Amino acid sequence: MDNDGFHLSARGSLGNAAIEKLLRAALGDQAVLTGEAVTEFASGWSDLGAPVALVRPADTDQVAAAARICHQAGIPMVPWGGRTGLVAGACADGAVAISLDRMNRIEEVDPVDGVMLVQAGCVVATACEAAEQVDMFFPLDLGSRGSATIGGVISTNAGGNRVVRFGMTRQLVLGIEVVLADGTVLSSLHPLIKNNTGYDLTQLFCGAEGTLGIVTRAVLRLRPAMPGRNVAFVAVEDFNCVTRLLRRLESRLGGQLSAFEVMWPEYYHLVTTPPALGRPVLAHSHGYYILVETMGADRGEDASHFETVLASAMEEGLVSDAVIAKSEAEAARMWALRDDGEQVGRIGPYLPFDVSLRVSRIAPFVAELRAGLELQWPGKQSVVFGHVGDGNIHLVIAAGDNSAAQREAITDIVLNLVGKYEGSISAEHGIGLDKLPYLHLSRSPQEIAAMQRIKHALDPDNIMNPGKVLPAPCPSDAGGAAL
Ligand SMILES: Cc1cc2nc3c(=O)[nH]c(=O)nc-3n(C[C@H](O)[C@H](O)[C@H](O)COP(=O)(O)OP(=O)(O)OC[C@H]3O[C@@H](n4cnc5c(N)ncnc54)[C@H](O)[C@@H]3O)c2cc1C
Repeated sequence: MDNDGFHLSARGSLGNAAIEKLLRAALGDQAVLTGEAVTEFASGWSDLGAPVALVRPADTDQVAAAARICHQAGIPMVPWGGRTGLVAGACADGAVAISLDRMNRIEEVDPVDGVMLVQAGCVVATACEAAEQVDMFFPLDLGSRGSATIGGVISTNAGGNRVVRFGMTRQLVLGIEVVLADGTVLSSLHPLIKNNTGYDLTQLFCGAEGTLGIVTRAVLRLRPAMPGRNVAFVAVEDFNCVTRLLRRLESRLGGQLSAFEVMWPEYYHLVTTPPALGRPVLAHSHGYYILVETMGADRGEDASHFETVLASAMEEGLVSDAVIAKSEAEAARMWALRDDGEQVGRIGPYLPFDVSLRVSRIAPFVAELRAGLELQWPGKQSVVFGHVGDGNIHLVIAAGDNSAAQREAITDIVLNLVGKYEGSISAEHGIGLDKLPYLHLSRSPQEIAAMQRIKHALDPDNIMNPGKVLPAPCPSDAGGAAL
């Protein structure tokens, strides 16, 4: 008998039916779905595969019980959050999918310590609302805010619109509770900003994409509410002005700059012309369009300072034109243009990329990429926009005949060029399955070997979201690849 009181036969010898039976006995029938019920329950933004079973634990103990069963049976497990990832990181073919959706409670919000304790299945927007209720602020903001979960954003180290000021998810997480591959509950739920007591285990799981363990709870860091929000739409003529304006706003706005979102003209055209609902806020003749946002404590003073800084940039010729939102509704309309990414579908079948580069290298990178695409496929359309404040751009490239060969050829061109410019082939969604063949373009053999060793130490049987993020080590490196 194991801890749950169920007899398990020798490791790896259980069939799917036996595993399902054990899961049902441990978690209850209502928490285990199979066959059609899985498809009815779940859809995703990328391939979810065909799991052997989907379990929906109600608490950490149930996650641990499910993990112990999978560990004993030697069957892989794949954690599921909101399934909004775009790189097939939650693909659970032949595995037990473990959805955190029932573990969605906010357990504690403490405005004095500025922390919040949440379960991993809590949706990001819900966490933000809970912070607002006590006059605090959880700064993570991304397009998938209504579906992505805290466990998912931690596991992909999600970024979003406000990274330029508040950092990525790893900067917003103080502590974490994780269930490891063998069912061990590792609690590192420290609500401390400063804690120099050895290795930072919390950070180890940020961006691990569920390959090291299942995040079950987390302590998030909150900031005071910032009611003084200002938003403007700005036009500049060349990329040199984009980077100069970024640094100018950072220095003159006293740290209040919270978003710096750049749209190349093709993107701006798509989101401001029918069938898009948005309409132009500035003429269609400029080189780049930038949505600028600041957040601060004083509505009146912040607004007038914001206006002064933008006016002086215009007087100098750094900015060609600008409109400042005079109401929340106008600010929302400006953000709606930036967020209307689905308009890129109008260029036909396309391939999306989220990459990051040093800000100084973005313009030459885009120019070289477009020249390379034009040479091979004259007239191929590409659209660029993104969180340039933190070097992250989205590239959307028309996939032509959309054949596998053409998609692979385009991917090779884009990601090899990112490697040449020493950028990151994934600034947002992670590596998952889709970007695995390109990991070496952004990480050295030594880095990959070190990651394989960490993976092996925590998951020696390779059952925790296997095949994602890292290539399998060579069989000769049984204890993890050599450094
Ligand atoms: C419209 C849209 C806009 C987006 N905008 C952004 C953006 O601005 N910035 C950005 O970074 N991303 C963005 N994304 C990508 C996506 O929303 C993020 O990657 C998000 O963090 C995924 O969260 P999720 O809960 O949906 O995780 P899932 O998609 O369910 O899972 C993603 C990965 O995390 C693992 N995982 C999930 N939950 C857990 C857990 N509890 N423990 C361990 N591993 C887990 C999964 O196994 C998988 O590998 C966007 C996606 C969409 C569809």
